[in-house]
Amino acid sequence: MSSAVLVVGSANADLVVPVERRPGGGETVLGGDTTLSPGGKGANTAAAAGRLGADVALLGAVGDDSYGRLLRDSLAAAGVATGHLRTVGRPTGIAYITVTPDGENSILVSPGANSALEPGDITDDVLDGVRVMVTSLEVPLPTVEHAVARASAKGVRVLLNLSPAAEVSRETLGALDVLLVNEHEAAYLLGTAGADPRKLLELGPRAAVVTLGAKGAVVVEADGSTEVASPKVEAVDTTGAGDAFAGALAASLAEGATLVDAAKRAVKVAAVSVTRHGAQPSYPTPDELE
Ligand code: AMP
Repeated sequence: MSSAVLVVGSANADLVVPVERRPGGGETVLGGDTTLSPGGKGANTAAAAGRLGADVALLGAVGDDSYGRLLRDSLAAAGVATGHLRTVGRPTGIAYITVTPDGENSILVSPGANSALEPGDITDDVLDGVRVMVTSLEVPLPTVEHAVARASAKGVRVLLNLSPAAEVSRETLGALDVLLVNEHEAAYLLGTAGADPRKLLELGPRAAVVTLGAKGAVVVEADGSTEVASPKVEAVDTTGAGDAFAGALAASLAEGATLVDAAKRAVKVAAVSVTRHGAQPSYPTPDELE
């Protein structure tokens, strides 16, 4: 039971409430109707790759509850293998998201079942036959670091989406084939906003990709950097755009594309995703890319 792309990461139910303003401490505010949708960086990344037709599996954990079933159904509908998605004795992770009229999100994540993902879950046979492993930081750091070390030792191509930004070890950064960050995460790593993205390679990864929102992305490799422009689109909801990019990048790399060609496809996929509402429901099939 192996897939070309293995995503090691989170699965959350996203509960989104529109609010005029956020409540302060001790205060109650009435909001609009709640929307429930499948999310979590790992599940989103896997769903984006699956929607593109990639052979992809998610290694993660959900609870034995309705949110866990929603996530399983959504992943299956996107063509993601769920044989490594464990059901554990904790509630499925939930992201409580408030959105104000200016479109700004604030998000509280209760990781729940995602916290149960342990280094021991990354066994050698899980990595057998995997060409690209992609992971992100909504699951416990020791699990991520172990997954990176095991995959790298096995010759699997390793992509880390350093999101949400957190400190990872030099060993982990040095084992990466591709470090994927947005501008904020790049600034977190480099200590200043707007620093030269080429400096990311000094942290150890063989290559880095920095996403730049509406501007697209920049690919940094040892022999130079390449800017990849995004198609111009009318953005209505950027939720999960970075995850769409990660899933599309991994899917193309597993098919043998160069990193620059993979990034060219990923900006198209992410651009389509921002023209539609939600994360997973916004991800395109190959037909919808043209
Ligand atoms: P970000 O995390 O904001 O850098 O966004 C990740 C990726 O989503 C970018 O590299 C773009 O490919 C895409 N994206 C985000 N916002 C927009 C936008 N307003 N228009 C087109 N593409 C976008």
